Amino acid sequence: MKNVIPHNFKIGQEDRNGANGHNSFVLWFTGLSGSGKSTIANAVEQALFEQGVKTYLLDGDNVRSGINNDLTFSPEDRKENIRRIAEVGKLFVDAGVVVLAAFVSPYKNDRLNIENTIGSHSFVEIYVKTSIEECERRDVKGLYKKARSGEIKDFTGISAPYEAPDNPAIEIDTEKETVEASTARILSLIQDKLQLNHE
Ligand code: ADP
Repeated sequence: MKNVIPHNFKIGQEDRNGANGHNSFVLWFTGLSGSGKSTIANAVEQALFEQGVKTYLLDGDNVRSGINNDLTFSPEDRKENIRRIAEVGKLFVDAGVVVLAAFVSPYKNDRLNIENTIGSHSFVEIYVKTSIEECERRDVKGLYKKARSGEIKDFTGISAPYEAPDNPAIEIDTEKETVEASTARILSLIQDKLQLNHE
Protein backbone atom coordinates (compact mmCIF):
# COMPACT_ATOMS: atom_id res chain seq x y z
CA MET A 1 0.00 0.00 0.00
CA LYS A 2 1.29 3.44 -0.92
CA ASN A 3 3.08 5.33 1.85
CA VAL A 4 2.75 2.45 4.28
CA ILE A 5 6.31 1.43 4.95
CA PRO A 6 6.68 -1.58 7.25
CA HIS A 7 8.85 -1.03 10.28
CA ASN A 8 11.69 -3.44 10.76
CA PHE A 9 10.74 -4.92 14.14
CA LYS A 10 13.50 -6.29 16.35
CA ILE A 11 11.44 -9.21 17.68
CA GLY A 12 9.93 -11.63 15.17
CA GLN A 13 7.88 -14.80 15.10
CA GLU A 14 10.96 -17.00 15.45
CA ASP A 15 11.98 -15.20 18.64
CA ARG A 16 8.50 -15.61 20.08
CA ASN A 17 8.32 -19.28 19.06
CA GLY A 18 11.69 -19.79 20.75
CA ALA A 19 10.55 -18.06 23.93
CA ASN A 20 7.29 -20.03 24.00
CA GLY A 21 8.99 -23.34 23.27
CA HIS A 22 6.76 -24.23 20.33
CA ASN A 23 5.87 -23.18 16.81
CA SER A 24 2.72 -21.26 15.93
CA PHE A 25 0.19 -21.96 13.16
CA VAL A 26 -3.54 -22.08 12.48
CA LEU A 27 -5.77 -25.13 12.84
CA TRP A 28 -8.69 -24.29 10.58
CA PHE A 29 -11.87 -26.31 11.24
CA THR A 30 -14.36 -26.33 8.37
CA GLY A 31 -17.69 -28.15 8.19
CA LEU A 32 -21.44 -27.70 8.38
CA SER A 33 -23.11 -25.90 11.27
CA GLY A 34 -23.43 -28.41 14.11
CA SER A 35 -20.84 -30.75 12.61
CA GLY A 36 -18.68 -30.50 15.75
CA LYS A 37 -16.05 -27.87 14.86
CA SER A 38 -16.32 -25.90 18.12
CA THR A 39 -16.61 -29.02 20.25
CA ILE A 40 -13.45 -30.56 18.79
CA ALA A 41 -11.55 -27.26 18.60
CA ASN A 42 -12.32 -26.70 22.30
CA ALA A 43 -11.10 -30.16 23.23
CA VAL A 44 -7.89 -29.71 21.20
CA GLU A 45 -7.31 -26.29 22.76
CA GLN A 46 -7.78 -27.69 26.25
CA ALA A 47 -5.26 -30.46 25.60
CA LEU A 48 -2.72 -28.02 24.13
CA PHE A 49 -3.25 -25.55 26.98
CA GLU A 50 -2.55 -28.29 29.49
CA GLN A 51 0.75 -28.96 27.71
CA GLY A 52 1.69 -25.31 28.17
CA VAL A 53 1.04 -24.28 24.56
CA LYS A 54 -0.10 -20.70 23.94
CA THR A 55 -3.46 -20.96 22.20
CA TYR A 56 -6.40 -18.88 21.11
CA LEU A 57 -9.76 -19.95 19.72
CA LEU A 58 -11.49 -17.87 17.08
CA ASP A 59 -15.10 -18.66 16.30
CA GLY A 60 -18.31 -17.04 15.17
CA ASP A 61 -19.16 -15.91 18.68
CA ASN A 62 -16.05 -13.87 19.48
CA VAL A 63 -15.50 -12.61 15.92
CA ARG A 64 -19.02 -11.78 14.76
CA SER A 65 -19.83 -10.01 18.05
CA GLY A 66 -16.73 -7.82 17.88
CA ILE A 67 -14.37 -7.07 15.02
CA ASN A 68 -16.92 -8.25 12.42
CA ASN A 69 -20.13 -6.96 13.98
CA ASP A 70 -20.66 -4.70 10.98
CA LEU A 71 -20.97 -7.69 8.62
CA THR A 72 -24.08 -9.55 7.45
CA PHE A 73 -24.39 -12.99 5.86
CA SER A 74 -24.52 -11.68 2.30
CA PRO A 75 -21.98 -13.29 -0.05
CA GLU A 76 -19.71 -10.19 -0.04
CA ASP A 77 -19.85 -9.87 3.74
CA ARG A 78 -19.18 -13.59 4.23
CA LYS A 79 -16.10 -13.14 2.10
CA GLU A 80 -15.00 -10.11 4.11
CA ASN A 81 -15.71 -12.01 7.34
CA ILE A 82 -13.32 -14.78 6.28
CA ARG A 83 -10.72 -12.30 4.98
CA ARG A 84 -10.54 -10.51 8.32
CA ILE A 85 -10.41 -13.77 10.27
CA ALA A 86 -7.50 -14.90 8.10
CA GLU A 87 -5.67 -11.62 8.74
CA VAL A 88 -6.33 -11.85 12.49
CA GLY A 89 -5.12 -15.47 12.43
CA LYS A 90 -1.96 -14.36 10.69
CA LEU A 91 -1.25 -11.76 13.38
CA PHE A 92 -1.76 -14.35 16.12
CA VAL A 93 0.64 -16.73 14.37
CA ASP A 94 3.18 -13.91 14.21
CA ALA A 95 2.53 -13.35 17.92
CA GLY A 96 3.53 -16.98 18.56
CA VAL A 97 0.11 -18.39 19.28
CA VAL A 98 -1.49 -21.62 18.03
CA VAL A 99 -4.85 -20.51 16.64
CA LEU A 100 -7.89 -22.75 16.49
CA ALA A 101 -10.38 -21.29 14.03
CA ALA A 102 -13.83 -22.86 13.81
CA PHE A 103 -15.89 -21.49 10.93
CA VAL A 104 -18.27 -23.13 8.46
CA SER A 105 -16.18 -21.51 5.67
CA PRO A 106 -18.17 -23.27 2.93
CA TYR A 107 -16.31 -21.99 -0.13
CA LYS A 108 -13.14 -23.60 -1.45
CA ASN A 109 -11.98 -20.33 -2.87
CA ASP A 110 -12.28 -18.55 0.48
CA ARG A 111 -10.30 -21.31 2.16
CA LEU A 112 -7.64 -21.03 -0.51
CA ASN A 113 -7.43 -17.30 0.18
CA ILE A 114 -7.05 -18.02 3.89
CA GLU A 115 -4.22 -20.43 3.13
CA ASN A 116 -2.55 -17.83 0.90
CA THR A 117 -2.88 -15.13 3.56
CA ILE A 118 -1.59 -17.25 6.41
CA GLY A 119 0.92 -19.26 4.36
CA SER A 120 0.60 -22.99 3.55
CA HIS A 121 3.20 -24.01 6.13
CA SER A 122 1.15 -22.35 8.90
CA PHE A 123 -2.28 -23.55 7.81
CA VAL A 124 -3.73 -26.94 8.78
CA GLU A 125 -7.12 -27.66 7.26
CA ILE A 126 -9.35 -29.90 9.36
CA TYR A 127 -12.53 -31.12 7.72
CA VAL A 128 -15.22 -31.99 10.25
CA LYS A 129 -17.30 -34.24 8.08
CA THR A 130 -20.74 -34.83 9.48
CA SER A 131 -23.69 -35.55 7.23
CA ILE A 132 -26.33 -32.88 6.81
CA GLU A 133 -28.88 -35.37 8.17
CA GLU A 134 -26.93 -35.76 11.41
CA CYS A 135 -26.29 -32.00 11.75
CA GLU A 136 -29.99 -31.37 11.27
CA ARG A 137 -30.88 -34.09 13.76
CA ARG A 138 -28.54 -32.47 16.34
CA ASP A 139 -29.74 -28.96 15.47
CA VAL A 140 -27.61 -27.58 18.34
CA LYS A 141 -28.76 -23.99 17.91
CA GLY A 142 -32.17 -24.56 16.31
CA LEU A 143 -30.88 -23.01 13.09
CA TYR A 144 -31.80 -25.90 10.76
CA LYS A 145 -35.41 -25.64 11.87
CA LYS A 146 -35.37 -21.93 11.04
CA ALA A 147 -33.63 -22.60 7.72
CA ARG A 148 -36.25 -25.23 6.75
CA SER A 149 -39.09 -22.86 7.58
CA GLY A 150 -37.47 -20.14 5.48
CA GLU A 151 -36.85 -17.89 8.47
CA ILE A 152 -33.11 -18.05 7.68
CA LYS A 153 -32.14 -17.74 4.04
CA ASP A 154 -28.94 -18.98 2.39
CA PHE A 155 -28.25 -21.48 5.11
CA THR A 156 -25.26 -23.73 4.36
CA GLY A 157 -26.33 -27.30 3.63
CA ILE A 158 -29.99 -26.38 3.19
CA SER A 159 -30.25 -23.40 0.86
CA ALA A 160 -26.58 -22.56 0.28
CA PRO A 161 -23.77 -24.86 -0.84
CA TYR A 162 -20.98 -26.42 1.18
CA GLU A 163 -17.88 -27.21 -0.86
CA ALA A 164 -15.98 -29.99 0.89
CA PRO A 165 -12.17 -29.80 0.92
CA ASP A 166 -10.44 -32.07 -1.62
CA ASN A 167 -7.31 -32.61 0.35
CA PRO A 168 -7.65 -31.67 4.02
CA ALA A 169 -4.79 -32.43 6.42
CA ILE A 170 -7.26 -34.52 8.39
CA GLU A 171 -10.87 -35.58 8.02
CA ILE A 172 -13.06 -36.29 11.00
CA ASP A 173 -16.21 -38.34 10.79
CA THR A 174 -18.02 -37.47 14.00
CA GLU A 175 -20.63 -40.12 13.35
CA LYS A 176 -17.92 -42.77 13.70
CA GLU A 177 -15.32 -41.18 15.97
CA THR A 178 -15.58 -39.83 19.52
CA VAL A 179 -14.42 -36.31 20.46
CA GLU A 180 -11.57 -37.87 22.45
CA ALA A 181 -10.42 -40.00 19.51
CA SER A 182 -10.47 -37.13 17.02
CA THR A 183 -8.68 -34.85 19.50
CA ALA A 184 -5.95 -37.45 19.92
CA ARG A 185 -5.62 -37.80 16.14
CA ILE A 186 -5.28 -34.03 15.65
CA LEU A 187 -2.69 -33.76 18.44
CA SER A 188 -0.64 -36.50 16.88
CA LEU A 189 -0.94 -34.93 13.42
CA ILE A 190 0.45 -31.59 14.62
CA GLN A 191 3.16 -32.92 16.90
CA ASP A 192 6.00 -32.47 14.38
CA LYS A 193 4.76 -29.05 13.35
CA LEU A 194 4.47 -27.90 16.96
CA GLN A 195 8.00 -28.92 18.00
CA LEU A 196 7.02 -28.56 21.62
CA ASN A 197 10.05 -28.09 23.81
CA HIS A 198 9.22 -29.30 27.31
CA GLU A 199 12.34 -27.87 28.98
P1 ADP B 1 -20.18 -26.46 15.06
O1 ADP B 1 -19.15 -25.71 15.84
O2 ADP B 1 -19.58 -27.26 13.93
O3 ADP B 1 -21.34 -25.64 14.64
P2 ADP B 1 -20.79 -27.66 17.60
O4 ADP B 1 -19.47 -28.16 18.09
O5 ADP B 1 -21.32 -26.39 18.17
O6 ADP B 1 -20.76 -27.60 16.00
O7 ADP B 1 -21.92 -28.78 17.84
C1 ADP B 1 -21.70 -30.13 17.57
C2 ADP B 1 -22.64 -30.99 18.43
O8 ADP B 1 -22.44 -32.36 18.10
C3 ADP B 1 -22.36 -30.84 19.92
O9 ADP B 1 -23.58 -30.82 20.60
C4 ADP B 1 -21.58 -32.12 20.23
O10 ADP B 1 -21.73 -32.54 21.57
C5 ADP B 1 -22.21 -33.12 19.27
N1 ADP B 1 -21.38 -34.27 18.94
C6 ADP B 1 -21.77 -35.56 19.04
N2 ADP B 1 -20.78 -36.41 18.70
C7 ADP B 1 -19.71 -35.64 18.38
C8 ADP B 1 -18.39 -35.94 17.97
N3 ADP B 1 -17.97 -37.19 17.81
N4 ADP B 1 -17.55 -34.91 17.70
C9 ADP B 1 -17.97 -33.62 17.84
N5 ADP B 1 -19.21 -33.28 18.24
C10 ADP B 1 -20.09 -34.27 18.52
